Amino acid sequence: MLYAILENWQPVLALAGLVAFWLWESWNPFFEMTGRLKHAVRNLSLAGINAALTVLAFSALTAAAAVWTANHDFGLLPQMEAPIWATIGVGMIALDLWTYLWHRANHRIPLLWRFHRMHHSDENMDVTTATRFHFGEIAISTAVRLGPVLLLGIPAEAILAYDIVLLVVTQFHHANIGLLDRMDRRLRYIIVTPNMHRVHHSQERPETDSNYASVLSLWDRVFRTYRERADYRRIRYGLAQMVGDRYQTFRGMMGTPFRRLPEEADG
Ligand SMILES: [Zn+2]
Ligand SMILES: [Zn+2]
Repeated sequence: MLYAILENWQPVLALAGLVAFWLWESWNPFFEMTGRLKHAVRNLSLAGINAALTVLAFSALTAAAAVWTANHDFGLLPQMEAPIWATIGVGMIALDLWTYLWHRANHRIPLLWRFHRMHHSDENMDVTTATRFHFGEIAISTAVRLGPVLLLGIPAEAILAYDIVLLVVTQFHHANIGLLDRMDRRLRYIIVTPNMHRVHHSQERPETDSNYASVLSLWDRVFRTYRERADYRRIRYGLAQMVGDRYQTFRGMMGTPFRRLPEEADG
């Protein structure tokens, strides 16, 4: 019942978030952006593929795994016999911690970084960057996430609810919106805000390797990867080894994991 409701709301909220943040960016942008439409079309072309892939294969797989654990009383959470809302809440927080750890692994492990760097090669950042992920990264991360889902016995409703929250907060923290600085600061006590995530998209490597959290900002504070900077308006987005339009076309983005970059050739 709850699962069916969430399933219906997922595409509606995804689209509403995209439109709302796009309008906000048009009305009050943080950085002036030229070629916005071209940038959006490129990033959203990936979103189309990813959405189809996620809906067709991986959501079904994840839900099936969750239903299997529920039917077999498998995993940690079902053993606690807590009320369902508590199980869903704990499950969602556990998934957010997992997302944080997995994101760190994507920066640490060279094979994973090859896919993830396509998200970072965006030289402009706006709400459409929220969907700029290589489908290889989505496939690997969804498959690996089945591990904690099965071990903890996270209910299917918690996974879907978390994925919806994750998408909307991800749209928010990538959006090129001119949020007031004090507002950004206050919100940052709880969730990842645009300024916090801008640091993560900086070309300076120590900044790229910080602020990994996706929904709750807490994880970066707990694991000491939280980073601020004095002037967010001087951030330069992208990756120093991947400058130029050839990394921004559809082909360029798809081929990103398989390219040899100058830094690697030297090393
Ligand atoms: Zn990253
Ligand atoms: Zn990002």
